[in-house]
Amino acid sequence: MTQTVLITGGSRGIGRATARLLGARGWSVGVNYTQNLAAAQETVAEVERAGGRALPVAGDVANEADVIAMFDQTEQTFGRLDALVNNAGIVAPSMQLADMDLARLTRIFNVNVLGAYLCAREAARRMSTDRGGAGGVIVNVSSAAARLGSPNEYVDYAGAKGAVDTMTLGLAKELGPRGVRVNAVRPGLIDTEIHASGGKPDRAAQLGSTTPLGRPGRADEVAETIVWLLSDAASYVTGALIDVAGGR
Ligand code: NAP
Repeated sequence: MTQTVLITGGSRGIGRATARLLGARGWSVGVNYTQNLAAAQETVAEVERAGGRALPVAGDVANEADVIAMFDQTEQTFGRLDALVNNAGIVAPSMQLADMDLARLTRIFNVNVLGAYLCAREAARRMSTDRGGAGGVIVNVSSAAARLGSPNEYVDYAGAKGAVDTMTLGLAKELGPRGVRVNAVRPGLIDTEIHASGGKPDRAAQLGSTTPLGRPGRADEVAETIVWLLSDAASYVTGALIDVAGGR
C-alpha cells in the first residue's frame, strides 16, 4: 500500500532531501512551499525520478486556512494521509534580542511555533484513530538551537524550536494511545539555503568545521533520520528528540 506524507517546506533543503528519499521508498509526497514554485516543481520532478508520486502544495504554515487547504489537497490527490513532516522553518538576520523589533519576533514565532502547532493539530485531527483516522506518524523538525540557545544570533528562533521540542513531548503522550507516533529531529549546522536567508551564506561551512565531526551536515543526512522515524523500523519510538548535529 502506497503511503502518503505532507512535508511542510518540502521544496528546498532538508524538506527536499526528505521528499527525494521518500520517493525512492515509493511514497506519495505533498511538497509544500510558500514562495518558490519553481523549487517545488523541481522537488516534485526529483521525487518522480526516484520512483514516487508528488504534488506541489502552496501555503503558508502560519495561515490556518492555508494549512487546512494543504492537508485537504494532499489527502484528496493521493486518497490518504499517513504522515506529516513538520519541517517549514525560518531564521532572520543575526542580532541580539535587544535589537529585535516586534515584526521580526512575530514572524519568527508565527512560522516556527504557530505554524508547527497548526500543522501538527491538523495531522492529529486526520490521523488519530479515535477521530476516524488510521493512525500515522509526525516528525517535527526542531533544531540543536533549542538546547544551545543561539546567543547573539537568534535567541528568538532557538526559543521557537524549544517550543517544538516541548510540543513533541506532549503530543507523543497525547497521541500514542490514538495510533500516532510523534518525534523530533534536531539538526545541527546543515548546508542549506537557510543560512543565506539569515544573511550568512557561509555559516554552515565556517561553524561546521568547529564541530566534533569537523564539517557541516548534508540535508540528506538529516533526511535519513526523518525517513527512519517515519518507517516501521521505528515502530516503538515516540516522544524522542534525536540530534543529527555532528556532536555539536
Ligand atoms: P531552507 O533551505 O531555507 O528551506 C526552507 C523551506 O521552508 C522552503 O521549502 C520554504 O519554501 C519553506 N518555508 C519557509 N517559510 C514557510 C512558510 N511560512 N510556510 C511554508 N513553507 C515555508 O531551510 P532548511 O535548512 O531546509 O530548514 C528546514 C528545517 O530545518 C527548518 O525548520 C529549520 O529551522 C530546520 N533546521 C535547519 C538547520 C540548518 O542548518 N539548515 C539546522 C537546524 C534546524 P519556499 O521555497 O517557498 O521559500
